[in-house]
Amino acid sequence: NESLQLRGVQRTYRSEGGALPVLRGVDLTLQAGEIVALVAPSGTGKSTLLHLAGLLEKPDGGQVLVAGRDAGALSDGERTAIRRDSIGFVYQFHHLLGEFTAVENVVLPQMIAGKDRRAAEARALTLLTAFGLQARARHLPGKLSGGEQQRVAIARALANAPKVLLADEPTGNLDVGTASLVFEELLQTVRTHGVAALIATHNPDLAARMDRTVTLHEGRIVEY
Ligand code: ADP
Ligand code: ADP
Repeated sequence: NESLQLRGVQRTYRSEGGALPVLRGVDLTLQAGEIVALVAPSGTGKSTLLHLAGLLEKPDGGQVLVAGRDAGALSDGERTAIRRDSIGFVYQFHHLLGEFTAVENVVLPQMIAGKDRRAAEARALTLLTAFGLQARARHLPGKLSGGEQQRVAIARALANAPKVLLADEPTGNLDVGTASLVFEELLQTVRTHGVAALIATHNPDLAARMDRTVTLHEGRIVEY
């Protein structure tokens, strides 16, 4: 029951300066419900790997499979649909839409996926409540604390019940205490819903709370 699979994934950046092989054959499988920490120094290719896993970029070699479907064998439209319906993204900075309330930010991706407004709102409120934000649902992001904003961003990422959650330092801009709390809520929600999560972090305490840790070494995945 593999939710995400990378097979021999390669990515080389080319410029006038030459070629920089960042990923040289990444093999990584996440089963449904598995939460994996990606811990590696800056510049080793974590963001590149997350972009490839999220079908935002194309590998130079190898394959990316989401819920068993080989992204390279699909049309652009099918890939877009997978990205929208099966993958959730959380970034270090929340990227919420400032003109829209918390609940609207969580409703929008569902409307884009074709859900009707009532059902989308009901789900958005359920998610926000799970993150302790029921009283904040009608606020604009600018009126929320950093921790609350990041909770909304996580709720948004889970809005379409993705099979895979990809996160790049999801609590990296929060103070230690808030990061720990928000992260605990993230883990609980992901576990409850059987989402496979790949979470890049520099924080060893957070990594220790996940199911396993992998690192990048010379362009390949190494188990800790
Ligand atoms: P990390 O997230 O681990 O810091 P990145 O995936 O961002 O690593 O980057 C890995 C390497 O690839 C770095 O040396 C970075 O400078 C380079 N790189 C990343 N994106 C590009 C790009 N679009 N063009 C050229 N080089 C890039
Ligand atoms: P091309 O030169 O083939 O157009 P691009 O770098 O422009 O290559 O490719 C970007 C396109 O590749 C996007 O449309 C994106 O949806 C698609 N893509 C993303 N992930 C994958 C994948 N794993 N395999 C194949 N194509 C992908």
